Amino acid sequence: MDKTDIWSENMSNTPVTAQPSNDAHTLLKQYGCGPIPFSGTDNAFYERHFVFDKVLDKRESTARDQFEAFARSVRDVLSQRWVLTEQIYGRQNAKRIYYVSMEFLIGRSLANNVTNLLLDPLIQDSLKQKKLDWIELIEQEPDAGLGNGGLGRLAACFLDSMATLQLAAMGYGLRYEYGIFKQSINDGWQEETADNWLRHPDPWEVARPNEAVEIKLNCSFELHNGVLRAIPGRPSTMIGIPYDRPVVGYGGKTVNTLRLWAASAADYFDFREFSGGDFVGALAETLTAETLTRVLYPDDSTSFGQALRLVQEYFLAACSVADLIRRFRKHNSDWNLLPEKVAVQLNDTHPALTVPELMRVLLDEANLGWETAWDLTRRTLAYTNHTLLPEAMEKWPVAWFELMLPRHLQIMLEINQRHLDAVRTKFPGENERCTRMSLLEEGSPKKLRMANLAIVGSHSTNGVAALHSQLLRTTTLKDFGEMFPDRFNNKTNGVTPRRWLLLANPALARNITEAIGDGWIRDLDQLIKLKPLAEDCAFLAAIRKSKYQAKSEFANWLLRTSGVKLDPDTIFDSQVKRIHEYKRQLLNALRIVVLYNRLRQNPELAMAPRTFLFAGKAAPAYHFAKLVIKFINNLAGTIEGDPVVRGRLRVVFLPDYSVSMAEHLIPATEVSNQISTAGYEASGTSNMKFMMNGALTIGTRDGATIEMAEAAGEENFFLFGLTADQVSQNRTWYSPRWHYENEPETRAALELIFSNHFSRHEPNVFEPFRQLLLDKGDYYMHLADLGSYLAADQQLTALYKITDAWASKAVLNVAHAGRFSSDRTIAEYAADIWDAKPCPVS
Ligand SMILES: *Cc1c(COP(=O)(O)O)cnc(C)c1O
Repeated sequence: MDKTDIWSENMSNTPVTAQPSNDAHTLLKQYGCGPIPFSGTDNAFYERHFVFDKVLDKRESTARDQFEAFARSVRDVLSQRWVLTEQIYGRQNAKRIYYVSMEFLIGRSLANNVTNLLLDPLIQDSLKQKKLDWIELIEQEPDAGLGNGGLGRLAACFLDSMATLQLAAMGYGLRYEYGIFKQSINDGWQEETADNWLRHPDPWEVARPNEAVEIKLNCSFELHNGVLRAIPGRPSTMIGIPYDRPVVGYGGKTVNTLRLWAASAADYFDFREFSGGDFVGALAETLTAETLTRVLYPDDSTSFGQALRLVQEYFLAACSVADLIRRFRKHNSDWNLLPEKVAVQLNDTHPALTVPELMRVLLDEANLGWETAWDLTRRTLAYTNHTLLPEAMEKWPVAWFELMLPRHLQIMLEINQRHLDAVRTKFPGENERCTRMSLLEEGSPKKLRMANLAIVGSHSTNGVAALHSQLLRTTTLKDFGEMFPDRFNNKTNGVTPRRWLLLANPALARNITEAIGDGWIRDLDQLIKLKPLAEDCAFLAAIRKSKYQAKSEFANWLLRTSGVKLDPDTIFDSQVKRIHEYKRQLLNALRIVVLYNRLRQNPELAMAPRTFLFAGKAAPAYHFAKLVIKFINNLAGTIEGDPVVRGRLRVVFLPDYSVSMAEHLIPATEVSNQISTAGYEASGTSNMKFMMNGALTIGTRDGATIEMAEAAGEENFFLFGLTADQVSQNRTWYSPRWHYENEPETRAALELIFSNHFSRHEPNVFEPFRQLLLDKGDYYMHLADLGSYLAADQQLTALYKITDAWASKAVLNVAHAGRFSSDRTIAEYAADIWDAKPCPVS
């Protein structure tokens, strides 16, 4: 088709060529499409993006151009639906749900949107016509890595579920120009480079400068030799510009919005003010403002308290409050309706400044009295806690608020005064309780505690798995549990089965659909229908075959993308997640050293050949975690070079873990390692992804793994190690040295490491392991659990030999994974916290 044809086609607004099938036609009509974009030989929709968006001859286009044109064609399909969704929410004056999060670990969107729009059959046709390679097209899209790990991925899964459940929901986050850093491995060490994911224009996002909001701070900033400095007493204004991304519910009926804020300087300079000559200074300030949303902080479960991060957090809270209040006021005149029409979920304390910001708006802009403003604020907001780790608890110096946000400080101090009065009334004479529950932490510098603020300023505080919620209520937040028993609840996390099963594992998804129909995609509990098939030899054979297929596909992908060759006839045993002491990648490595020692001592030993897969990033300043990465890489290298074990044990560290890598690796995995020190992993979500992909779990009784084992039956899990109770009771007398002295295999493994067997050219590089594990008390109790880990491992490899028994347990795991759909989690939030009903877009 030449350009004239496209032009006339565009003008006449009629499809040019072959008629699509009736089904396709109906489907696309439902999306409100004019011309049919993906049908027959019609290239108009796709090609017009080359000509009209890029002003480019298609023959000159690169793979990236083709991705952009294709993605824009998919966006064309959903655009009218997207507009309609917002129209219907407005017309119905639906209760709006706002999920506010500093992180959304989205990954890629093209294949996900095609799947959720049910466009797969049309697309396959269209690709053939256009002679496009789907895999190559998909891989042109960078991962949107706007998050660190589980917390950010949870937010992304929740968006999918909220749209699928037809809730009038919106996500609010920041449009970081640089997402989570790219990890490479050099000489075994992690290196970080910037993730410039917006280098090319993003085909999904829609900038809406007309809906920009103004954010005021009581100081200005300047960059001085790369350091951000505040200039007190010179108020400044920043502009938040929304960039919207579509969130397609499965079935394509609801298209919700993820609204990401980009910071920009006020675009109207007061030139009179600067006519004194500081024109350049004013432009430099522009630069500073635009620095604000430049980069995601790469720290998982740790808060370093940098000032720029606090401004980021305030910026998210303030932009989101301004936007949701504007939308509320468009449809409602009575402020008292706020909690009936709006529910805001704070994903951890990162957006906790939403509390004083909403209070400020209700007091100073709506001119409500304190009591009314406070009642409305509390009934509108809800808070999710994600961790018990003390180093993750956010606290900010009071002095910073004095400088930047004095009005907010005033409001928070008033909140605190009234809160402590209530505590004193309920628990008279308990001064220490008041000290613990205060929003203020005395000391120098004096700090504000964000968790206390979020609990006091909301009507709901939830943990993310049963054990975590219980520990919150009874230990970490005991005082608050006693003060506000009705506020505490549990919402066990989930993951979306669309991305993590339907899309990631087509072979298994096909098995399941052939056996029980496709109802599971929207209602994952239907997987229970697979239970009787755990005894069905033909089905077990099919399951084994699809696992082998996933392993081969993963191996092919890895070979193609990194040149690493895997043997799909070995057991694939994975631990992929952020590298953190509490997650105990070091314990896994110690297990492998013990197995390696066994083979070295007895080369004749029968041992099923295994591939141990690791992936994960360490925070750039977390030196110990980086040393663990170094150790895993050295372990891999040493084993590779040892003829005694070559082909029997293999360790592979895959650099740059991401959502896309997880989508390839998880379906291929047979053994999922979930081995955190009990009581420290709030929930975990990769555990669920593995379970629904038919991996068996070897793990501790921690987070949601406990509930997974409960659902499937402990006999279908390989649980080991101390329980959370035992961990806390044993703390006082636990002796890692005892294990070193009394367990020969533990001792031999450590001796091998300390003898520089894995660091021949870098003597003593792993000495910090000796300090951590033996001299400093082994806080995360690696040595306490190593023995039982090995025992569980032995049972697991014994079972693997009995192929039908293994497949049968895999089927039982899949059959009981229904509860771990984020659809179930979101249905619980909607019913218990948000009081929200579906608002169908029909
Ligand atoms: C699911 C997921 C996580 C969370 O993994 P956990 O094992 O629960 O910590 C982190 N990163 C990515 C890319 C994920 O997909």
